[in-house]
Amino acid sequence: MSSDEAADNAEDPGHCKALAWEREHEALVHAQMAQAMVVTPPCAVCGTPVRTRRARSPGRLPAEWEQWPRTVQDSIQRQRQPGQWHLLFKGVASCNGYGDPIDASRAGRIAQAFRPPLHFGQVHTAGFYDDAGFCQDCDAPYCYHHWQVSGSGYGYCPRGHGKSLDPHW
Ligand SMILES: [Zn+2]
Ligand SMILES: [Zn+2]
Repeated sequence: MSSDEAADNAEDPGHCKALAWEREHEALVHAQMAQAMVVTPPCAVCGTPVRTRRARSPGRLPAEWEQWPRTVQDSIQRQRQPGQWHLLFKGVASCNGYGDPIDASRAGRIAQAFRPPLHFGQVHTAGFYDDAGFCQDCDAPYCYHHWQVSGSGYGYCPRGHGKSLDPHW
């Protein structure tokens, strides 16, 4: 054993302990937030949950993980950083596929935005292009069906308010 290795080993126990504590602490904070982050606003007309958006806390893998291609898994693992959240976003008309890495402050902002009771002004602060299916004028969420989304991603709520539900248009 070289003297360098010996030095590393000597530092290890304390380092690991601190890291473990940090992880535990982080998990506690995020466990509370994670609950608030599973959001399925029910459609104001039919009660169908308007697609889900979820943010995964650091260190946890999405439920769909096993079904994802290996290349996707690899690239997500590579992007992973300590304390980083992973946002899986399924909007009314589209989604962000395998998710995007987001930082804790964005995760916190989303958690705040989706704290019940939901209303447009609050949901809007999350910064989702479709505002979770909320119609600004009705201050109510609608499902894909009731938005009557056209091929171009533009939809009309049951009361005739127009809104773009697809970020690509
Ligand atoms: Zn509906
Ligand atoms: Zn409306």
